[in-house]
Amino acid sequence: MFGAVEAGGTKFVCGIGTSPEDLRTVQIPTGEPGITIRSVIGYFRDANVSAIGIGSFGPICTDRSSSNWGFITSTPKLAWRNTDLARPIGKALGVPVGFDTDVNAAALGEARWGAAQGVSDFLYLTVGTGIGGGAVAGGRVVHGKSHPEMGHIRVPHDWNTDPFAGCCPYHGDCLEGLASGPAIETRWGKPAAELPPDHPAWALEARYLALAVNNFICTLSSKRVILGGGVMHQTQLLPLIKTELARLTSGYLELPDLVSPQLGDRAGVCGALVLAEQAQN
Ligand code: ADP
Ligand code: ZN
Repeated sequence: MFGAVEAGGTKFVCGIGTSPEDLRTVQIPTGEPGITIRSVIGYFRDANVSAIGIGSFGPICTDRSSSNWGFITSTPKLAWRNTDLARPIGKALGVPVGFDTDVNAAALGEARWGAAQGVSDFLYLTVGTGIGGGAVAGGRVVHGKSHPEMGHIRVPHDWNTDPFAGCCPYHGDCLEGLASGPAIETRWGKPAAELPPDHPAWALEARYLALAVNNFICTLSSKRVILGGGVMHQTQLLPLIKTELARLTSGYLELPDLVSPQLGDRAGVCGALVLAEQAQN
């Protein structure tokens, strides 16, 4: 039995199991770090798990050779800045811990059980409170100096058609600053979920996301792109992005499949099971 944690900015989703079928989850609200981590440990205390996987909001340190491994580092959530997340959980429970970003975990979940089964090169993008991406290339999750931060790429911003300055606390009008759920809400003065399907918000959103996907596939040559997260619950968005991507790429590239996650909003916590399994081996 494995323990799985999807550590999010508003809630920690924790589960015990081996696969999406037997995974039972609970939610722990993201509060003060010490209290939240103690609640997570308490949940797993008597569960007899052999390893834990954690997919976390970030930025995080995933470098096993660093003394900062397992930390949430420079997050805008001030209380969580420089928080040691993975080691205290592993130590308290006496089990190995796999630790990666929430989006890398989601990519692993979709690869094992979802929309990327048997696909060696794909990209998982989430468009929600933030924007993040997990890339798998040659069957391996892409890591580097730390981990990719795909939400913070710069995309062309036409100030005439979109005078909104963007809402990223670090960059203003990076991709996340222009196209995350909070960006849509701030630009249009209404929660994204309340904007009708024919609202001009969605053509603009599709434009930014297609620009991003264009840049990612030109760099990674992904065979499939999975688009998830709360904003993608707008079902009209995926076809708009496909059309805009075809326009942007002008027939130069053979386009990858653009698809929805098969594990839906459970991709991250299911992927944390894979991280646990990897930590054990
Ligand atoms: P998180 O990113 O925090 O893990 P989500 O992926 O659910 O969580 O994303 C939450 C964001 O998605 C919010 O900004 C919300 O406005 C937006 N969102 C949620 N549901 C919808 C919807 N049906 N349509 C458009 N936007 C939505
Ligand atoms: Zn940014």
